[in-house]
Amino acid sequence: MHEDTIAAIATPVGEGGIGIVRISGPQAKDIGKELFRFHRPVQNPQSHKLYYGHVIGEGGEVLDEALLAFMHSPRTYTTEDVVEINCHGGIMPLKKTLERTLQLGARLAEAGEFTQRAFLNGRIDLAQAEAVIQIIRARTETAMQLSVAQLQGRLSQKVGEIRQQLLSVLAHMEASIDFPEHQDVEDVAFVQLREAAELAHKEIDLLLQTADKGRILREGLRTAIVGRPNVGKSSLLNALLKEQRAIVTDIPGTTRDVLEESVNLGGIALTMVDTAGIRETTDTVEKMGVERSREALGQADLVLYVLDASDDLTAEDIELLQAAGEKPLIVIVNKTDLVSSPADVTTKLHSELASVPVVPMSVVENRGLQELEEAIVSLVFQGDVKPSQSAMVTSARHKDALSRSLTFLQDMLSALESGFAIDLLAIDLHSALDALGEITGETVGADLADEIFSAFCIGK
Ligand code: GDP
Ligand code: ZN
Repeated sequence: MHEDTIAAIATPVGEGGIGIVRISGPQAKDIGKELFRFHRPVQNPQSHKLYYGHVIGEGGEVLDEALLAFMHSPRTYTTEDVVEINCHGGIMPLKKTLERTLQLGARLAEAGEFTQRAFLNGRIDLAQAEAVIQIIRARTETAMQLSVAQLQGRLSQKVGEIRQQLLSVLAHMEASIDFPEHQDVEDVAFVQLREAAELAHKEIDLLLQTADKGRILREGLRTAIVGRPNVGKSSLLNALLKEQRAIVTDIPGTTRDVLEESVNLGGIALTMVDTAGIRETTDTVEKMGVERSREALGQADLVLYVLDASDDLTAEDIELLQAAGEKPLIVIVNKTDLVSSPADVTTKLHSELASVPVVPMSVVENRGLQELEEAIVSLVFQGDVKPSQSAMVTSARHKDALSRSLTFLQDMLSALESGFAIDLLAIDLHSALDALGEITGETVGADLADEIFSAFCIGK
């Protein structure tokens, strides 16, 4: 437990119905009592109950009307004593209330420090702490579901099981290292080791197979809109942006690592690649030539190649399409309103790229978005956008840790085949276990944990 008491404004700063100042730590209760005047005097306020009253300044003046809750350790967000003050949601009442807590001995919390305390105090593990920020940043229902499952410990539990199996074998191995004269112990250890390592290998592999879909469902499908000038790329992007405004409202105060240009097409988040200046980017790609386009497309999960139905397929199109064809590719034949049928360009296209999905569209007449959505679902998600019910990997950090763990297990299995000594095998097993432990935070360095929490917002 921490010695000092931290405080912060826990709600976005701006105008709102209410705003919350949160205090956590050993002095939270005293500070709360000191700055608050109950409407009806209360001797021993109950835990987790809201009290009506006023926030009082140093000179006894009323700073704001408020509701206050004392939450006794350990059933709190941080597991420490927590006090939450619901003020009016404006900059001044929140600032005044926060200042008062600081005057009374609290320290201003750093970004993510409340969640960090929940982690350090053992209430949640690192993967669960990361899920908190994912929930805050979720842009689609699916992203939200995935993050909630992670907060509930679905991934942590799976990783914990795998670790547990490997740990018990490690114990056996270490016994046989300590008692080398018992050949039988060593034989048993070898058999168990191979079995456990193969099983763990298989399970980690299964988890890794969920990583691409998990990332896409959570962060969005990195999408590039490509095509020759004037085919309607910017118009398409605008149509997609308009579509999403009906569904997702703009979130104020989004931080820099949130991808700004993200559109929601029927529940699938499309994140426009190279978000620096999307409107320029779509036109930059076309000017960059094939080589550069290929590079720009390197990051994309999906390429939308736009053609003009009233125009011919050019050599340039074919070149760009072939460059794009290394990625999941959907061709949009736009401006179908200008032709009686888009058959011409589609036929030519199919003679160049036989199996590419084609979506006829007219952005100006608002036709084809539904078909585009269906094409994406069948191309990228094999018809199923639902997240799986078992554990899914949704973060690059977890994917990396799992991959390293897998490599160590592979190394160990081949060393086992080649008849290496058991103490050498134990080294690989240790490393595999450490890599797994990074996911839940057991084996993660303080630096990395700090870095993860510093990406949070203040007050969380
Ligand atoms: P970009 O250069 O590929 O980004 O193309 P723009 O989005 O700037 O569009 C070029 C022109 O095509 C503009 O005048 C648009 O209004 C027009 N345009 C875009 N989509 C359609 C469409 O579906 N039908 C028709 N008739 N015109 C369109
Ligand atoms: Zn454009």
